[in-house]
Amino acid sequence: MEKIIQLNDRRFKVMIPAEKIDEAVAAVAERINRDYAERQTPIFMGVLNGSFMFLSDLIKKIEFNNEISFVKLASYEGTTSTGAVKKLIGINGSIEGRHIIIVEDIVDTGESIQHMVEMLQAYNPASIEVCTLFFKPNSYSKQIPINYRAMEIGNEFIVGYGLDYDQLGRSLKDIYVVCE
Ligand code: 5GP
Ligand code: MG
Repeated sequence: MEKIIQLNDRRFKVMIPAEKIDEAVAAVAERINRDYAERQTPIFMGVLNGSFMFLSDLIKKIEFNNEISFVKLASYEGTTSTGAVKKLIGINGSIEGRHIIIVEDIVDTGESIQHMVEMLQAYNPASIEVCTLFFKPNSYSKQIPINYRAMEIGNEFIVGYGLDYDQLGRSLKDIYVVCE
């Protein structure tokens, strides 16, 4: 029987079981292991809140020395009303000359990741690559290359494994999709 869960006003059903997520995480970790074998101590930079579960599973499969840090895109308080302008919080210590792997839960239109990459470039890192658990190719409209995509999906709205609906559902081990 199909398992249905309720989060606030919406019902969700399982779309991707935990075992499939694990396989996809392993595959992307293998590519990163290959590509970064020769580079000096990269920094995995998880974007809070959505990436915490992905990063924690991904990093266990990484075979080279690494650092881990988390950043958050926060809206400016007070004066700017649109909410579109975000600042980056959590950069402590220098990332100049370092190899950065941004770890995202999902790249949809690409708005957030483009903004993130632009802000990080100001710190002059040696390189920046993006690793995302989910990528929505039909929605993406930016130029930033998204080189590590664990899974691609359509434009459906998903929750679980770190991703939320109104802050709910992040702890689910499977990925759920909203019921029609
Ligand atoms: P973008 O800026 O790429 O359009 O959107 C990225 C952000 O939108 C993600 O970090 C996430 O917060 C949210 N988002 C986009 N698609 C989904 C989805 O299917 N499920 C959830 N839970 N969040 C999503
Ligand atoms: Mg995100």
